Amino acid sequence: MTARSVELRSDTFTRPTESMRRAMYDAEVGDDVWGEDPTVTRLEERAAALTGKGAAVFVSSGTQGNLVGLLSHTRPGDEVPVGDQSHIFWYEVAGAAVVGGLQLRTLPNGQSGRLEPVEVRAAIRGVDVHFPRTGCVALENTHNRCGGAVLTQEQMRSVADVAHASGVPVHLDGARIFNASVALDLPVADLVASVDSVTFCLSKGLGAPVGSLLCGSEEYIDRARKWRKLLGGGMRQVGVLAAAGLVALDESVDRLAEDHAHARALAEGLPDISGIAIDPASVQSNIVVFDVAALELEPEEFITRLAEVGVRIASVGGSKMRAVTSYEVSRADIDYALQKVAQLSQNTVPATA
Ligand SMILES: *Cc1c(COP(=O)(O)O)cnc(C)c1O
Repeated sequence: MTARSVELRSDTFTRPTESMRRAMYDAEVGDDVWGEDPTVTRLEERAAALTGKGAAVFVSSGTQGNLVGLLSHTRPGDEVPVGDQSHIFWYEVAGAAVVGGLQLRTLPNGQSGRLEPVEVRAAIRGVDVHFPRTGCVALENTHNRCGGAVLTQEQMRSVADVAHASGVPVHLDGARIFNASVALDLPVADLVASVDSVTFCLSKGLGAPVGSLLCGSEEYIDRARKWRKLLGGGMRQVGVLAAAGLVALDESVDRLAEDHAHARALAEGLPDISGIAIDPASVQSNIVVFDVAALELEPEEFITRLAEVGVRIASVGGSKMRAVTSYEVSRADIDYALQKVAQLSQNTVPATA
C-alpha cells in the first residue's frame, strides 16, 4: 500500500488535467503582444462574457491582475480603501504602493470578509487641501483570510452604491469568484454586476497551471493592457496557457460544488476532535480555517507531524490553520485527514508513520 498524500495547503497545488495538457499541445497561437493569439483572444472574450463586462485581459497571476486592476483606476497619491484581511493588503508585497504610489487604507473585514457600507462611506475622502483622492475601493470574494467567506450580490452592491455615489470605482479581487458563484447558485455576471472591474484566477480551484483574467469596460481594459506591458506581463505565444484556461472554464466550474461539500465534511468532522476549535457554519466554500490553540502540540509541530503522515495543511498565523479542498482531494482523503488529525490530537501518531 502506498502512503496517501492529501494536499490541503492550497487549491493552487492543483495540477493541469489531461484535457488541459492536450489543449495546450493543440493550441493555435500567435504573438499576443500584437493582439494576434487567437486562443488568448477567445479566452478574453469568454471572460468578458462570463463576468458581463465589456472586455478582459489575460494576466500572469491574480497578484498581477489586482495590481494592474488598481493602477488602471487610479493615479499616484490616491488612497484605496481595502479590507484589513484582504489579499491585496496582506500578500501582494505592497505592489500598489511600490508601483502605483497608492496608499492602502484598511477597513475592518470582521469574520465575514465584508466591508460595511457606512465604513466605506466614512473612508471616502471629501474635498480638502490636506487629503489624498480616493482612487477606488477594493472588495474580495470569496474572502481568503476570512475562511473562504462568500459575499452576496447585495453585500457587494451596497458597498458599490456608496462608492459610486462619490464617483469612486470598485475593483473586486475575485480570485475565487467561481466558488462564490457556485456557493450562491448565481451566475458570475449577476454577482459582479455592481463592480467596475474584477480579477479571477484560473490557477486555483479551476486547475489551470497559470493565469488570471482582469475584466472591465473596454476603455478600462485598454489602459490595463498598457500597465500589463509596463509590468512585463506582455507575453507572446501565450495561447498555450490560455488553452488550459478555456478548458478550466469548460470543465472545472460546475464541479467546485464537490470541493465545497468536501470542505463541509471536514468542517463537520473537526469539532468531534478534542483540541480543535471551529464553527462549521463559517465554512461557505472550499476553505476551512480552524484553531489548534487547545492542542498539546505547538502549531508548527502539528503541521509537521501531519505532513509526516501525508496530510498537508497551512498556517494562517499563530494557532490558526487552513485547509483548502480541490479536485485533487477526494472524500476518502477528507476521512483520512480527519483520522490523522484525531490520532494526532490524542498524540497517538508515531513521529514517523
Ligand atoms: C491567490 C489569491 C490572489 C493572488 O493570486 P496569485 O495568482 O497567487 O498571484 C489574490 N487574491 C486572492 C483572494 C487570492 O486568494
